[in-house]
Amino acid sequence: MSGLEGVYLGLDLGGTFLKAAVYEPSADTRTVLGAYPIGDGLELFEVTGQIVQSLAEQNKTTIGIGLGLPGVLDNRHNLRFSPHRSELVGVDIKAGIAGVSGVWPLVDNDANCSAALEAYEDPNSSILVVNFGTGVGAGLAINGSIYKGSNTSFGEIGHTGRHGGEICACKRVGCFEVELYTLLDPASSPDGPDFEAASELVSEVLFDYIRVLDPESLVLGGGLVYSTNGFFQMVSRLLESANSAYRSGFKLRISKATGLEYSGAVGAALLSSGVVGYVCDTIDH
Ligand SMILES: [Zn+2]
Repeated sequence: MSGLEGVYLGLDLGGTFLKAAVYEPSADTRTVLGAYPIGDGLELFEVTGQIVQSLAEQNKTTIGIGLGLPGVLDNRHNLRFSPHRSELVGVDIKAGIAGVSGVWPLVDNDANCSAALEAYEDPNSSILVVNFGTGVGAGLAINGSIYKGSNTSFGEIGHTGRHGGEICACKRVGCFEVELYTLLDPASSPDGPDFEAASELVSEVLFDYIRVLDPESLVLGGGLVYSTNGFFQMVSRLLESANSAYRSGFKLRISKATGLEYSGAVGAALLSSGVVGYVCDTIDH
């Protein structure tokens, strides 16, 4: 006879899919459920309800939900702007999830969720996680906790710098992620995406963050990093060479995200369970 098991559901909403994973504390297991296509962002609620229902049919009670969102959040963790999910800006996402699941979710940006998995895997370290997904965002794990900043605004690397003259969705001119994705846009050049120029841009930008934060580990994630275009190898090599030119013997581990495409979903589940928490947490979730 098997009793009901309490599980934490982690969700990671991207531009095309909702990725889902489950953390089961009693067995300390993390299980990938899959990727569910999401057209209009509002489908998020219906699909979440279906996942919770399907878990219930397997005698798994959802006792917590973590949701990673692509975009900049306000200090109530609602989406402030999101180039790829603008239909969810102004929507009370937490109430929507609670309505279909009976569980009040923890919501954070997708990079912080990815950082939560690294914090869990390597709890005695300082880790800068940079996610190249629908945009470019970063998370910082310090000794097993996530630092999100006093305005929940840590890690908006994508919306920094003065690279070129394009206006970003955030209304600034010259944002790093706009320049990066312009270089990678197949339509922007007759030769197709320029991975070499993109790697040079990324390694120059990350060099500055490494100088400022000096983490033990740099973790790169997102579709651009997992695909077989040599991007991860080129960025690693350029950064290693810049770091050793800066100071001989400079130590920085560079790796791909532990959970690859499901890092954000697994990390969201861990955050919702409280097994990974926040540094200096003063904000209501
Ligand atoms: Zn911007």
